[in-house]
Amino acid sequence: EEAVRLGKFWHDGARDGAGRDADISLMGELDDALRTDLIEVYYQPKYSLREDRIASVEALVRWKHPERGFIGPDLFIPMAEKTNRIEAMTLYVLHRVVSDLAIWRIEHPDVTAAVNISAKLLSDTAFNTAVEDILKSSCVPTSSLIFEVTESAAMSDPARAIAALNRYRELGVAVSMDDYGTGQSTLTYIRQLPLSELKIDRSFVQHASRNVNDAVLVRSTIELAHKLGLKVVAEGVEDLECLTFLKACGCDLAQGYLISRPVPISALTEMLSIQMRF
Ligand code: C2E
Ligand code: CA
Ligand code: CA
Ligand code: CA
Repeated sequence: EEAVRLGKFWHDGARDGAGRDADISLMGELDDALRTDLIEVYYQPKYSLREDRIASVEALVRWKHPERGFIGPDLFIPMAEKTNRIEAMTLYVLHRVVSDLAIWRIEHPDVTAAVNISAKLLSDTAFNTAVEDILKSSCVPTSSLIFEVTESAAMSDPARAIAALNRYRELGVAVSMDDYGTGQSTLTYIRQLPLSELKIDRSFVQHASRNVNDAVLVRSTIELAHKLGLKVVAEGVEDLECLTFLKACGCDLAQGYLISRPVPISALTEMLSIQMRF
């Protein structure tokens, strides 16, 4: 029944997108990839600077293409958005995350998982209904899920998107603003969205321990977020100096290559049992 439901979205997307995108054949292959499990979900840890442990993970999609090799999400997500395939792909990812969560929750019940949700999907009623169905039929508590949303002009119908996010909050899902600092109308979104977390974009984080201006921006963003009652994640943490700087600023969580690259579920569960400290 699940397959039928996902399949339905899939074919809608395939039909709507035909002729609109330059790389139709690649998108056709994406249809097949989803059906045959060639889309994989990797996980990158979010490390708690307060508790010195992996407190959460972010799901990041990977496409293992049989001929072209690995295709990164930066290439196929924008295409999937344009050709309406993003809906089926996101539901696929959410399904995976929820079932993976059920596995690691047995030994690590406190570790939450974040899923990236394209802003434009939030005003899509069919998508939101499908998400609610997944949440309701799953055995993992909704409080172990975070939806990461990018501040974006692509939020085609802000009122409906905000209503959808409010509904997810009501159901227990946390909402995170992704890539903070890079989008438009940043402060407007902070005011309007029911956020629980803010992720500072890696372009600000990467040089914060060496660049005075970046340091000021990061430090004041953390302060601002805390005053608004939000948790702060710094992304793109690649070295120990950066992590030490963030700790000193009171940042809650760090994510980046220093802690780990995105890894398959098997490597993640191993990491959770070892629990390295930084
Ligand atoms: P994002 O949500 O901002 O994810 C963070 C990206 O930064 C990931 O790239 C991650 O691998 C990379 N990254 C993490 N730590 C570091 C670091 O220390 N240094 C550097 N240089 N990079 C780091 P990735 O996996 O290629 O994903 C790219 C983007 O694709 C994501 O950006 C997200 O916007 C999108 N994406 C990935 N998976 C999904 C998905 O399931 N749904 C949607 N809608 N978008 C997704
Ligand atoms: Ca993200
Ligand atoms: Ca991000
Ligand atoms: Ca990004």
